[in-house]
Amino acid sequence: MNSFDTDVLIVGAGPTGLTLANELARHDISFKIIDSAITTSQTTKALGIMPRTLELYEKTGIDKEMVEMGLVTPAFNVMNKDRGLIHFDFNKRCNSPFPFVLMLPQNKTEEILYHHLMKQNHDVEWETKLLEIEQDANGTTAVVQKGIEMPRPSLPNISWGVTGLIVQSDINLG
Ligand SMILES: Cc1cc2nc3c(=O)[nH]c(=O)nc-3n(C[C@H](O)[C@H](O)[C@H](O)COP(=O)(O)OP(=O)(O)OC[C@H]3O[C@@H](n4cnc5c(N)ncnc54)[C@H](O)[C@@H]3O)c2cc1C
Repeated sequence: MNSFDTDVLIVGAGPTGLTLANELARHDISFKIIDSAITTSQTTKALGIMPRTLELYEKTGIDKEMVEMGLVTPAFNVMNKDRGLIHFDFNKRCNSPFPFVLMLPQNKTEEILYHHLMKQNHDVEWETKLLEIEQDANGTTAVVQKGIEMPRPSLPNISWGVTGLIVQSDINLG
C-alpha cells in the first residue's frame, strides 16, 4: 500500500474543490486534490457565480477570464406570466466591484479553475476516490481507491479486460 503525507486533502475537483486548491496554492499551503471522475465536468449544473465569489477570484486574476467567457447579468426579474413579481438590481443592492451575477456554465468554470491550478504546477489526482476517513490524536488518515493505467495490446481479434481490481493507498494527513 502506498502512503503519503499532506496538510490538506481536498476531496472533489468541482468548483468548490478547485477554488480551494487555487487558494491553498496561493497561500503556499501543501495539499492534494483528488476526484473519482476522469477529468473536469463536461456538462453543467451550477450556472451563476455570485459577486463575493468573483471578488475571491479577483485576488488571483481568474475573474477577468471568467467575465470574458460569461454573461454579465446585472438584474433579475421574476415573472408570473406577463406580470412582474420581483425586480432585483445588483447595481443598487450590492456593494461590490462585481455588481452582477456572472452566468457561466459549470464545465467552463471548472476548466478555467483547473488550468489556473496547473499553471501553478499542481494537478488533480483523477480517478481517485475517497473510501474512508479516520481521525485520532495523531491526525487524519484517508483511504483512497485509485484507477490505474494499463497498456493495452493492439492485437486484432483479441479482446480482454480487467474487472474488480482494487488498489488501495493510505494518505496520512499528519
Ligand atoms: C440536479 C442538480 C441541478 C442543479 N442545477 C443547478 C443550476 O441550474 N444552477 C446552479 O447554479 N446550480 C445548480 N446546481 C448546484 C450545483 O451543482 C452546485 O452548486 C455545484 O456543483 C457545487 O459545486 P461543488 O464543487 O461543491 O460540487 P460538485 O460540482 O458536485 O463536485 C463534487 C466533485 O466531487 C467528486 N466526488 C464526490 N465524491 C467523491 C469521492 N468519494 N472521492 C473523490 N471524489 C468525489 C465528484 O466526482 C465531483 O467532481 C444543481 C445541482 C444538482 C444536483
